[in-house]
Amino acid sequence: MPSLASRVAGIEASPTLALVAKAKALRAAGKPVIDFGAGELDFDTPAHIKAAAIRAIEEGLTRYTASAGTPELRQAVCDKFLRDHGLRYDPSCVIVSCGAKHSLFNALQVLCERGDEVLIPSPYWVSYPPLVKLAEGVPVIIPTDERRGFKVEPAALKSRLTPRSKLLILNAPANPTGAVYTQAELAALVEVALAHNLYIISDEIYEQLVYPPHRHTAVASLGAEAAARTITVNGVSKSYAMTGWRIGYCAAPQAIATAMDTLQSHATSNPTSISQRAAVAALTGPQECVAEFRRELAARRDLMVEGLRQIPGLSCESPAGAFYVFCNVSGVGDGSRVAQRWLEECGIMVIPGDGFGASAYVRFSFATSREMIRRGLGQLEQWSSAATP
Ligand code: PMP
Ligand code: GLU
Repeated sequence: MPSLASRVAGIEASPTLALVAKAKALRAAGKPVIDFGAGELDFDTPAHIKAAAIRAIEEGLTRYTASAGTPELRQAVCDKFLRDHGLRYDPSCVIVSCGAKHSLFNALQVLCERGDEVLIPSPYWVSYPPLVKLAEGVPVIIPTDERRGFKVEPAALKSRLTPRSKLLILNAPANPTGAVYTQAELAALVEVALAHNLYIISDEIYEQLVYPPHRHTAVASLGAEAAARTITVNGVSKSYAMTGWRIGYCAAPQAIATAMDTLQSHATSNPTSISQRAAVAALTGPQECVAEFRRELAARRDLMVEGLRQIPGLSCESPAGAFYVFCNVSGVGDGSRVAQRWLEECGIMVIPGDGFGASAYVRFSFATSREMIRRGLGQLEQWSSAATP
């Protein structure tokens, strides 16, 4: 047997995707699972977006497009950056990829040299460290404190810097903590990054899912120098309930965007032509659907946070954004053990915190109906009173 390349040897499959698949398989086998694992909205893709895709098929938009995306989608992305953040990009600086995960992969591949250090605040989204390792970089984890809302502090960032530091990955609203930074907090962090000549990959995929009074700040909007050093990653998966369509995008300084296009032109070519047309409809069409998603998610968040706080041994903050509650379960046990027991003993699926770099926690997704949230909380309460003598 030929040996596998060392770059994949130490990397495990995405635990979030594996658990999402497990919940679906259990349900298909007739097991009643209450799924708090989902990393995707349960809402259907809005009708006007689906209609645009159907029209695209009927009009014959079924061939290769430019590898970096159609001119109309790249322009729609530029218009969005200008509308939402006052940022002016030339369409040549926008690269459309097969999901935001693919944009992150491309960005790291073109920026990371073997041994370059990439700073990642923890808790982090499960894929960041493997994506860095696949680019032969070295993940450098910066711990954050739950009492400070899991936000990385400038001093903590400074303390991890070395001559090999190349990149900082920021993710706000954050998966799994829901952390959102104020403009001043973000500016202080960016100042440290710029002073040390770092690039910043800012994963803003949950940008639209921020609950008032919190507000999203785009890193690249913090001045010309920040824009010149930031690769903003975003996409339609989370905001428009389009995870299956696989459209992500990034806006980057010209040389980086060009390199990402070259890489993509050999690796995948263009993302699906039909999905690109759907993404144009998402970005340029009515935005009321996003506001509706946000309102419903805010109500679910409150329901879930209130319920979890009633259960002895569990504690959590109310997330400012995204659709996850990162719950401290140390009063009950280790996160992965607790997740396993809940699945076996009360049919509740959550994602253990160790994949996010925080083993005392589990992640609850509230991208499921209020009815399911009520039922799940009821079952956890019963479990808890049975478990405590
Ligand atoms: N970044 C974060 C923080 C995420 O949670 C996800 C979820 N999949 C992604 C990126 C990737 O999104 P996409 O479905 O567009 O690849
Ligand atoms: N990002 C989502 C999650 O964290 C979806 C799964 C994945 O892409 O890892 O659950």
